[in-house]
Amino acid sequence: MKNTASSSFDVTAFNAALSAWYSKSARVMPWRGTADPYRIWVAEVMLQQTTVVTVIPYYERFMARFGDVQSLAAADIEDVLALWQGLGYYRRARMLHACAKEVVSCELGVESEGGWPRDVGGLMALPGIGPYTAAAIAACAFDIPANVVDGNVERVVARLFKISTPLPAAKKGIFAAAGTLVNEAHPRIYANAMMELGATVCKPRNPKCEVCPVAAFCALAGDETVDNYPVKVKKAARPVRSGVAYILMREGDIFLRKRGDDGLLGGLWECPNDGLPGAGLDGLTTMEYEEMGVVRHVFTHFTLELEVRKVERCDVSMGGLGEGGWFGEEDLPPLPTLMRKVLKVGVIREHAADL
Ligand code: SF4
Repeated sequence: MKNTASSSFDVTAFNAALSAWYSKSARVMPWRGTADPYRIWVAEVMLQQTTVVTVIPYYERFMARFGDVQSLAAADIEDVLALWQGLGYYRRARMLHACAKEVVSCELGVESEGGWPRDVGGLMALPGIGPYTAAAIAACAFDIPANVVDGNVERVVARLFKISTPLPAAKKGIFAAAGTLVNEAHPRIYANAMMELGATVCKPRNPKCEVCPVAAFCALAGDETVDNYPVKVKKAARPVRSGVAYILMREGDIFLRKRGDDGLLGGLWECPNDGLPGAGLDGLTTMEYEEMGVVRHVFTHFTLELEVRKVERCDVSMGGLGEGGWFGEEDLPPLPTLMRKVLKVGVIREHAADL
């Protein structure tokens, strides 16, 4: 039954084995067991670049506050960002908000359900919804046979078929191979089961081939090279950038400024710094300051090291610092993780656990 070039692949038997395993082994998650596209969509967006364990409490708080797409659409973006605080990749929250508005306001015609298009193409036309998320909503909410390929599924398929072309060039081939496996009769179960298999059994390192429900169909089951699949081109080392961040204080208040809407940490608040793209320090470097330490933060494409300087009694004019304001410690706006680290180092030790 091994999936070699000379043997045929029994998709029906594969799906029977996969479904039987999933019905016994699926983990309980707050976004499973629902066919509500809104709940599935929010979960999928949060799970992009973030682990399940981290997402669960954020998801539950988000759902408690914004239980349906109408309440999210009606919300102030600052409230949405406040609930997102700490999850990172804030553009996701902005797109979520924009998409909710579109779903609520759009006249989508008879092929929609509660404002949601019922096909992958229609879902992809919404702001921030790409091919993967559209397929996940179509399969998990509407039980449509969509080809859902996230990183977990990509790994499973690359191993099942022993695809040796390195990523990212292999993506197209892996997607096509995954498409041959889709369970037309039970698309929702299939999509969830493949993602679960990759997350819990066919892990990146040391996959549990000995207990894998589809080992009989896998070209790499128990193979000592299995960890090398999917094959990847070695990435260049992530560059390290450095800069300075100023904590400007005046009568106990802290100065924060708002970044431009586009680009890294777009629209979020920051301490004046010259480490982030688009940021600058203007005349601040001539001010007397206290050295507080260095914070390090890893972004997708670079690592940033910021030297934190505190100016206790700031008399700088606001001109040149950008759009901003003074905030009490108890009244801080939603801050990205990097800036929470800066403030932890520099000023709000007694509230550090809350930041
Ligand atoms: S047999 Fe091993 S490599 Fe193949 S799908 Fe299962 S866990 Fe992954």
